Amino acid sequence: MRILLLGKNGQVGWELRRALSVLGEVVSLDRHRAATPYGELAGDLSDLEGLRHAIRAVSPQVIVNAAAYTAVDKAEGDRQAAHTINALASQVMAEEAKRLDAWLVHYSTDYVFDGTGTTPWKETDAVAPVNYYGATKLEGEQLIQGSGCKHLIFRTSWVYAARGNNFAKTMLGLAKDRPTLNVIADQVGVPTGADLLADVAVVALQQAWHKPELAGIYHLAPAGETTWHDYASYVIQCARNHGEALAVQAVNPISTAEYPTPASRPLNSRLDTTKLRHAFSVHLPAWQSGVTRMLMEALNK
Ligand code: NDP
Repeated sequence: MRILLLGKNGQVGWELRRALSVLGEVVSLDRHRAATPYGELAGDLSDLEGLRHAIRAVSPQVIVNAAAYTAVDKAEGDRQAAHTINALASQVMAEEAKRLDAWLVHYSTDYVFDGTGTTPWKETDAVAPVNYYGATKLEGEQLIQGSGCKHLIFRTSWVYAARGNNFAKTMLGLAKDRPTLNVIADQVGVPTGADLLADVAVVALQQAWHKPELAGIYHLAPAGETTWHDYASYVIQCARNHGEALAVQAVNPISTAEYPTPASRPLNSRLDTTKLRHAFSVHLPAWQSGVTRMLMEALNK
């Protein structure tokens, strides 16, 4: 199996480089030109013709897209770039996957929903993005689905990894210097490890390879739920238990209204993972186990 991985250095892309390697030859690209066995290629999603050329040159059986415009607040004012990278580049990948009869694996977000209520979102629920980033990710999904290519789209939430910047590491950094932290307590979701996202993609691909009817959209996040406030408190407690010297004395809960951002955030990011667990017989661990593991990696550096 030949796999083209785009976005090789992102949180999820980095983990996919490891996880996909057991499936076959992986050609990994980022936005910069680099030598590959198929010539000098770049996987720049803002250069749609360059992207098409790279896919044709590699001629893969699987395209895995871990690249995206993920700066949620910046996207509000940088609309053209966000739209090209999250929507139009997905369309190019889908068209080329269809032409090659290849699989396309892609990641999306709970931000396609409006964030109301307290019930975990199902794949069949009505979409209504809360911000421009969410709108571009939704359009990307729709372009992939409309292309008729074989696809696996995983909608996920609150991604972290040992490599890269994320909420948990930011909280840890702040807790070392500040006596108090104010953290949003009215947004509910599930922290999701990039390693879990990569491992589940491999399991799903292995099965879908022989069962094309498994193509579709799936919600993917660990078990359980939390708030940003409780997540931060958990991270700080774990670090203390590990012997870290932290200045922080209090983690204060605040509301979303007290922390305005250019892009709105959904209050309810819960995802119902029943479809994924049944389709691929996967077990999704409690979110705390992945976060603890990531912290041990980060703290033992
Ligand atoms: P990261 O921000 O860690 O990685 C995104 C990658 O995309 C980076 O390596 C970045 O490269 C690359 N990229 C950005 N623009 C381009 C471009 N023009 N051409 C090529 N590559 C580009 O994101 P994650 O790994 O966290 O996200 C993976 C997927 O999960 C995305 O589809 C995202 O939308 C989705 N998702 C993420 C969530 C999160 O909390 N992070 C939540 C829900 C879904 P560079 O470093 O060069 O900019």
